Amino acid sequence: MRGRGRGGAGGGARLEVRAECDGCGEPLTAGVRDGELACGSCGRRYPVAGAEAFEECPVCGCRRFFRQKAFPRVLGIGLVVVGAVLVPFTYGVSLMVLALVDLLIYRGVPQMAVCYLCRAEFRGVPVPARILPFRHHMAEGYEKRRERRDRQRPRREPQP
Ligand SMILES: [Zn+2]
Ligand SMILES: [Zn+2]
Repeated sequence: MRGRGRGGAGGGARLEVRAECDGCGEPLTAGVRDGELACGSCGRRYPVAGAEAFEECPVCGCRRFFRQKAFPRVLGIGLVVVGAVLVPFTYGVSLMVLALVDLLIYRGVPQMAVCYLCRAEFRGVPVPARILPFRHHMAEGYEKRRERRDRQRPRREPQP
């Protein structure tokens, strides 16, 4: 997977959702088509009409989101490791250079919105300013709700 979502895509923003299907628990990783997100495993459909405005999560109906960099964390950590390894040879300059590289990469990276309850990720569209970074005290409440929700989830039951 490549983080080349920016520029050159053309044709306007396209919402991409990464979530776990509420029906079968399989990962939902598809672009939104015709205002709908469909599960490849169980066929469950999620209308995403309001999702670009981030009013309600199409997967779980939660109304709270937080913003996060759509940047693979591993890459950032990898850079730090490389910088640290090179320290003895570059007298510490490598760390400074890499900190700068890291900063530049981070700045150019688009952001995504994440649902507090089901942790669905929404990329490819601008995140509205009212969606704030992750707040721990908010997440704690949702953690309990998520556990309860997971317990209630029917296991592979046919849709009515
Ligand atoms: Zn499913
Ligand atoms: Zn959700």
